Amino acid sequence: MREELLPLVGATPGLQPVLKVLRYGRAGAGPKVAIQAALHADEVPALLVARELARELRTLDAAGAVLGEIVLVPYANPLGLAQQVMELHHGRFDLRDGVNFNRQFADLTEAASASVQGRLGDDAMANVALVRAALRTAATALPARSPAQDLKRRLLALAIDADIVLDLHCDNEASLHLYGLTPQADLCIELGAHLGARAILLATESGDGPFDEACSRPWFELQRRHPGHPLPLACFSTTVELRGQADTQPGQASTDAAALLAFLRRRGVLAGDAGPLPAPLCEPTPLAASEPINAPAAGVVVFHRSVGETIAAGELVAELVDVDSGAAHALHAQSSGVLYARAATRWALPGDRLAKIAGTTLVRTGKLLSP
Ligand SMILES: [Zn+2]
Repeated sequence: MREELLPLVGATPGLQPVLKVLRYGRAGAGPKVAIQAALHADEVPALLVARELARELRTLDAAGAVLGEIVLVPYANPLGLAQQVMELHHGRFDLRDGVNFNRQFADLTEAASASVQGRLGDDAMANVALVRAALRTAATALPARSPAQDLKRRLLALAIDADIVLDLHCDNEASLHLYGLTPQADLCIELGAHLGARAILLATESGDGPFDEACSRPWFELQRRHPGHPLPLACFSTTVELRGQADTQPGQASTDAAALLAFLRRRGVLAGDAGPLPAPLCEPTPLAASEPINAPAAGVVVFHRSVGETIAAGELVAELVDVDSGAAHALHAQSSGVLYARAATRWALPGDRLAKIAGTTLVRTGKLLSP
């Protein structure tokens, strides 16, 4: 195991944020995996899982069981960890400019495409190596004028040439769920089976440049731009939502870490037998069909259904109680599917997203993720 402390561009003199990186195995010896925890810094269950992973991987590495290279960023957002306003922690948005820490990651497709133009051949693996080198160069060359911009550049540079990228997050209140690229559904199902995922939400473009897609989408785009040359989707990247922000129950993190390690064993990154694949608990559904239950007005939220429950179209999900009249506004689901996430607060303003259902019938367009 090697530990690195990468200095980030500082916001003010005297304050030097650093990004801690733990490396296991040996670069080039086998598949590369990049894992990062809590890019949204208030999604702390991921921090516990990262600690469990670090502990296990140290032992596995010492025993020579890491067959490739694993890069673990145990707290991916030191900037967000420090953001507290009026005693409340804010880890989702950069307080400097309001930008979501998991949006606006650079799309390196254009730079990589220009770099490999005319150099791709008939050997898929040689093409992959060429594209990876181009992506690495493009990520390293990104501008880094603010601490958050530098953080995004560093994280992307650490993961852009990986075979597997696991971005560990959580929702407000939620069942375990995954986001992934539509053509990588099979790998999402396999990972989801290990983790016991209750929803797997797929898209080819979610909008606004989240980290997982910044790593995986360039391959999807480059395939389309260079159709005459064999080029696999060489990076499987997914956002793992480790339930809700308060889900730090004893034992949960070690169970989740064990599931992630079993997946890595199955993928040939770790030595040993992964064991039988558990039966998947869900089928993937389109992210475009995920139904947001939004507040039509201000009010107090009274949920009638819990996360993990299967909802039928037309069923009551929540009521919104008007504080002037006391009238309850019933909020029904349009879709059938698993209620995979709920808001953590019980006071809503008009337009607030209160719950999400992994449906199959809606066809939303535009930006598909929560702000
Ligand atoms: Zn998140």
